[in-house]
Amino acid sequence: MLKVEGISAHYGKIQALDKVSIEVEEGEIVTLIGANGAGKTTLLMSICGDPRVSEGSIHYLNQDITQQPTSKIMRSGISIVPEGRRIFARLTVEENLHMGGFFTEPRTFDERLNFVYQLFPRLKEREKQRGGTMSGGEQQMLAIARALMSQPKLLFLDEPSLGLAPIVIQQIFSIIQRLRDEGVTIFLVEQNANQALRLADRGYVLENGRVVLQDVGSKLLTNNDVIKAYLGG
Ligand code: ATP
Repeated sequence: MLKVEGISAHYGKIQALDKVSIEVEEGEIVTLIGANGAGKTTLLMSICGDPRVSEGSIHYLNQDITQQPTSKIMRSGISIVPEGRRIFARLTVEENLHMGGFFTEPRTFDERLNFVYQLFPRLKEREKQRGGTMSGGEQQMLAIARALMSQPKLLFLDEPSLGLAPIVIQQIFSIIQRLRDEGVTIFLVEQNANQALRLADRGYVLENGRVVLQDVGSKLLTNNDVIKAYLGG
């Protein structure tokens, strides 16, 4: 479904990605783990068209999207839940969801709204509340719901568990699993390696802009290097 081959990306003189290759098959949950500054967000943003990659290629559903504008990539069925949620704080829950469904056809809009409200009943209860006044966990739910409004085939989640209480993290991870069961392919970027790898069909480890390990999720969980570096010893 997604094939990233040997991409490099720079911010001025800083090289953030160095010949990174990853693949995501339809129906999978693929997890990318890595420390702060490893290049995880840069990889997601590069797939979405920004920053432009300096070498390599990105194919999505057999189309070359390497040089495509972000708006076109977003309309092709990829949706992103950005790091830090980035909800519209002054807009209500309902208005945030309308923003997410901006390109959704009017005849499927209500269906999508019902779908996300059924997935997150808390958001339905709070549809008139301003996004910025909600708790961190509720804001994360809203960010996921907003991304789902465009009916993505492939969903990118950038550190969805960051800063959340363990019980809320459990809820978020079980929603991710449910989305996969409903047919959404997931590319999950996480520092919470333990839980993210448990959920994953396959995983990649990114260090200093390079993929240093890749395997099925269960094997990475028992890999000594992964245990030492990402699973607390
Ligand atoms: P984190 O887990 O802390 O979010 P990350 O793995 O997502 O980290 P990136 O945010 O992709 O890492 O950063 C990779 C490298 O690129 C870092 O060295 C970072 O300082 C640099 N970088 C990221 N964004 C920019 C930017 N807009 N301008 C300059 N350098 C940047």
